[in-house]
Amino acid sequence: AIFGNLSLRLTESLANLRTKGKLTPADVDGTVREIRRALLEADVALPVVKEFTAHIRERALSDDVNKALNPAQQVVQIVNEELIGILGGEVRRINFAKQPPTVIMLAGLQGAGKTTLAGKLAKKLLEDKHQPMLVACDLQRPNAVNQLQIVGAQAGAHVFAPEPGNGIGDPVRVAKDAIKYATDKHYDVVIIDTAGRLGVDAELMKQAANIRKATNPDEVLFVIDAMIGQDAVATAKAFQEGVDFTGVVLSKLDGDARGGAALSVAKTTGRPIMFASTGERLDEFEVFHPDRMASRILDMGDILTLIEQAQKAFDEEEAMKAAEKMANDEFTLDDFLAQMQQMRKAGNMKRMLGMLPGMGQMKDLIDNFDEREINRTEAIIQSMTPAERKNPKLINGSRRARIARGCGRTVTDVNTLLKNFEQASKMMKTVARGGMPNIPGMGPM
Ligand code: GDP
Repeated sequence: AIFGNLSLRLTESLANLRTKGKLTPADVDGTVREIRRALLEADVALPVVKEFTAHIRERALSDDVNKALNPAQQVVQIVNEELIGILGGEVRRINFAKQPPTVIMLAGLQGAGKTTLAGKLAKKLLEDKHQPMLVACDLQRPNAVNQLQIVGAQAGAHVFAPEPGNGIGDPVRVAKDAIKYATDKHYDVVIIDTAGRLGVDAELMKQAANIRKATNPDEVLFVIDAMIGQDAVATAKAFQEGVDFTGVVLSKLDGDARGGAALSVAKTTGRPIMFASTGERLDEFEVFHPDRMASRILDMGDILTLIEQAQKAFDEEEAMKAAEKMANDEFTLDDFLAQMQQMRKAGNMKRMLGMLPGMGQMKDLIDNFDEREINRTEAIIQSMTPAERKNPKLINGSRRARIARGCGRTVTDVNTLLKNFEQASKMMKTVARGGMPNIPGMGPM
């Protein structure tokens, strides 16, 4: 999970504070030390760690704390606000040109995820009713143009590429031609994919800088693989000096990234993180919300992102009906099954589970989660009578045995499913009523 380890360490050190009535300087120092260690282990750059922990210490010990909260909650609030700060504060959206086309140039090391991002951006822009066009300016790697054509086709966007067989093309020329073409054909956003190298090198920088000079882009997005850890800051600085950029895109946040890149790059370059890539598929992509990311790191769940994604995948009317049923206690096993099936449709189940509050602690459950589980659940529920599905309280011992026989599972499996259902309906009810489920050990927030 994103920042899994960091998140665990931070919540643990904050949870240790909960029983304290009043915070002494020693309490604060102890917690700050643990936070410092957790951040360093997550590969966050040292200067960022120093500034971050100094702020927390200063604020936690000042009189200017929120008196409505208990001391532990105060520290959580401070850590949360400071995390939002180093992640960039506000959401930063694309600056569109007053006079189209808007030009967006992508830069970054080879393998950072630029080409994939081009497809993701195009897909999102199409959803937002723009007419994006992709431009293949990575003319170094033999397969790069082809790869851009593939993601372009997946996104349903036009790809502008030099004619094959013309020898090694000049990317600056291609970029200029592309913008002229887009203007003529009324494409309103031009996304320029550029070449990357495995390491920072002068020639690469020069080429990217030349493309930038020739096309005067409205945005230059620096794409960085969140897995590169400590190298993130040096790489970002090299690109800032060589090409400069207006925003950062973090890719591969779905991997086992320790999170350091995310927490260091915005702060050390002064450029905002604008998007996050969380998978190879074109829809595994989000606008970066510093506040939501901070609460995800602190394992407060990401109710807003969850709701947004659920809305995309779920039929709105169905969702309203389900929410009403949950609030009224009429949630049945049929609804539970329908919901699981819709979640499967929504794709990345693990990611959705990871966004539920408190799920950080249920890491085993998430890691062991398996889509085959949905199939098993389906079989068990389908082996129940309509009356049983409507009213699970009916399901006594002999009914459990019959259900198990009917679907070829054990009675234990049936019991587990019923327990899961009960838990899910309890949690969903809280969310449907507008509440946040309590965070274990922290009391209501
Ligand atoms: P480029 O060289 O910068 O254009 O990078 P690519 O877009 O070709 O990406 C390199 C590899 O990383 C490809 O195999 C992509 O499928 C993969 N990739 C890109 N973005 C992500 C992401 O967010 N998560 C994961 N897991 N893989 C990604």
